[in-house]
Amino acid sequence: MQLDFAGKHKVFIQTIQFSSAVNDCKTKILRLDAIHPTISGNKFFKLKLHIAKALAEGYSTIATFGGAYSNHVVASACACKEFGLQSVGIIRGEEPANKSDSLIKAVSFGMQLKYVSREDFKHKEAIENRYKDENYYWINEGGYSCLGAEGAKDICSWIDESYTDIVCAMGTGTMMAGLVIGALPHQRVTGISVLKGATNLQKDMEALLKLTDLQKDYEVIDGYHFGGYAKHPKELIDWMNLFYQQNELPTDIVYTAKLCYAVNDLMQKGYFKPNSKIMLIHSGGLQGNLSLPVGTLVFNT
Ligand SMILES: *Cc1c(COP(=O)(O)O)cnc(C)c1O
Repeated sequence: MQLDFAGKHKVFIQTIQFSSAVNDCKTKILRLDAIHPTISGNKFFKLKLHIAKALAEGYSTIATFGGAYSNHVVASACACKEFGLQSVGIIRGEEPANKSDSLIKAVSFGMQLKYVSREDFKHKEAIENRYKDENYYWINEGGYSCLGAEGAKDICSWIDESYTDIVCAMGTGTMMAGLVIGALPHQRVTGISVLKGATNLQKDMEALLKLTDLQKDYEVIDGYHFGGYAKHPKELIDWMNLFYQQNELPTDIVYTAKLCYAVNDLMQKGYFKPNSKIMLIHSGGLQGNLSLPVGTLVFNT
């Protein structure tokens, strides 16, 4: 079964300019954030084959895991509602007195939340076992999976052969794996890690690839996390505002701002060959900016 999604036609390609641009490199960004306000960016691609499979196999409920601020949890809740499934979210940590925006939204899409302690959360199989009579279709934390990568491969349908480079942000690496699978032989895929000290990220990403994909041109780059996952020092916020003024491109504090900052820096350091044509992936996440005080960013998200 092929799941289609009405928002797909809204995706567009925007030309952007970096202040450090040299050597006639051309840079564009694929605005996947435009696909849907909640099943934002890459999440639709990572979820669609799971949802199709769950429906085809007669499941009524999808269950998945995440933290209180997880884009994946909200996107899963919304996608399940959209395609007629029920959803369960296993949330790390005790139930908070004040729910995050993400969790409030997830509940509004009908997701049933179950809180587990940080310690128990580490043992996913034990949790799945606890609910084995419920017959849930399980999706890994962050949507990390071969099927997620297979769905993310379709992002490449917007990237024609004129591009030499594809660059994306990495959380679990599932989207990057999909881009490597879908990339043409002459295209290099670069993943910018937004995690601090994620030494296994490249291996985790590679575990989603087949032997033939492992021979492709790709690289995982570390060092652009700005202090760690979701950390957003003033230096990053200032850069996001400047970049918005230059390009009218809104970015999110967790993933895409760090992606764009990294590309600017890598360009300056000569990472891209002369005359490269680079496609960045705007993987969404803009709703995460809502956690900032009003006025921090010069653009609305
Ligand atoms: C979830 C997310 C990512 C990370 O994708 P992975 O496939 O886990 O690497 C990147 N960007 C945004 C905006 C996201 O919400």
